[in-house]
Amino acid sequence: MNSSSVLTMLGKKLQKLASINRKSTSLPRTTWSDERTSVLADKGHLVVYTIDQNRFLIPLIYKVINAKKLIKLVRKWKKLAALSRKRITLPATIGKVVDEDRCSTSSTVEKGHLVVYSIDRKRFVLPLEYFSNKIARVLEMVVELVIRILDDRAKGYMTNSDLEKAVKEFGRRCSNISRIYSIGKSVLGVPLWVIEISDKPGEEEPEPAFKFIGNVHGDEPVGRELLLRLANWICDHYMKDSLARLIVENIHLHILPSMNPDGYFLRSRGNANNIDLNRDFPDQFFPLNNDINARQPETRAVMNWLREIQFAASASLHGGALVANYPWDGTEDKRRNYYACPDDDTFRFMASVYSHSHHNMSLSKEFPGGITNGAFWYPIYGGMQDWNYIHAGCFELTLEISENKWPNANELPTLWEYNKMSLLNLAASLVKTGIHGRIFSSDSGMPLPGSVTIKGINYTVKASRGFADYHRLLAPGERYEGTICLETLCALINSAGTSSSFYPIIHLHFLVQNPV
Ligand SMILES: [Zn+2]
Repeated sequence: MNSSSVLTMLGKKLQKLASINRKSTSLPRTTWSDERTSVLADKGHLVVYTIDQNRFLIPLIYKVINAKKLIKLVRKWKKLAALSRKRITLPATIGKVVDEDRCSTSSTVEKGHLVVYSIDRKRFVLPLEYFSNKIARVLEMVVELVIRILDDRAKGYMTNSDLEKAVKEFGRRCSNISRIYSIGKSVLGVPLWVIEISDKPGEEEPEPAFKFIGNVHGDEPVGRELLLRLANWICDHYMKDSLARLIVENIHLHILPSMNPDGYFLRSRGNANNIDLNRDFPDQFFPLNNDINARQPETRAVMNWLREIQFAASASLHGGALVANYPWDGTEDKRRNYYACPDDDTFRFMASVYSHSHHNMSLSKEFPGGITNGAFWYPIYGGMQDWNYIHAGCFELTLEISENKWPNANELPTLWEYNKMSLLNLAASLVKTGIHGRIFSSDSGMPLPGSVTIKGINYTVKASRGFADYHRLLAPGERYEGTICLETLCALINSAGTSSSFYPIIHLHFLVQNPV
């Protein structure tokens, strides 16, 4: 995608935002234009030249921006530019603030400059090369400026660069129990940062992995805020809180605060290509496009991530409702119906752990117990949770954690309190129930790659490649029977904790506990 088409796409978004704004401020209608011939931009426009020589005019008149605000932003850009100079050695030019009257004779701006006119008739000329040779970063700043003018919903929320800083700061502060890594980049080149929390981060252990993903939809930002709070809370409490300690010592918890930083930045549900990422996964009923290379970069990053790490369970965080949603998300006939997956009981248990640990989710009038089968609520196709369960052996929930997608930022501490125990208890449920163990040879002690199947549930959980440990979530309170298989050789197991092996070389570990 060249920079012009990125700008055109961003322009459309801005127009949409502007039209939302117009409703309340009834400002005159202007349009976004790709204007190559006009020499001078009207006052109150932002002019952007792209690397491929196109010129864009963005009207700034939807809301008043004054010179004082612009100077503040320019200072921030200069600081950013100074940072990037360290790495890319760009010429030392200075963003000029020119009084409009004195430069009125100048008719054109050189290519590669960004010109901003403020409402109070100041003209700003900013060399683009100053910032970085990456057009995406420049566009990001330009659009950030315009979006901030048009839209103050995100006031008090972390920007993408705030989030990156917070993740890295967390990594420094809690380096003994964490590791920071990126699983890829968004369309506009923003890294998808992950925090791993464990007493042995980055090391393989015979322990299950759990993941949280926030901000799948760009305009649902509460999750990314809460996930940073979750990481910091665990870091601050694992020495004194038994639940935090249990997670650190027995689970590898991976947290991707934002799967869709571009969507957040654009205040849009979809990513920068306007694709809904929770419709972009291969679908069991409508496998029209199962080529991983045809998917969005954010989707592909998550799919590749699940090839690297075997997650036993996970949840993604959304906003706009208050309910814990579980598979299946789609029905074969596209009708709205309860469509149970093989692990319906397990999923209902997991979803209930979340809703009943929550301040008021389980009291929902719309959803009994605060939980719902996805297809019963409304069927979707290409969703992430079904793909996780089918293709990655991962039991995933889709959590709607606040009725309001953009609550005022001063509500975030309360929303954190409402969701804190839910997030902790859901992750911890992974080791508090189910069947866990390892399969290894009594001769050599080597781990043997096998799988676990429970009688009556048409689903197989694979042991890990490294340690052959398996973690099979099950709803507590039932008596289960099942088999552990090594290729075609199988042994019977039951949840009373005894085993009978047909093959004496196989040792089986069991742990069956009721959740506290
Ligand atoms: Zn959502």
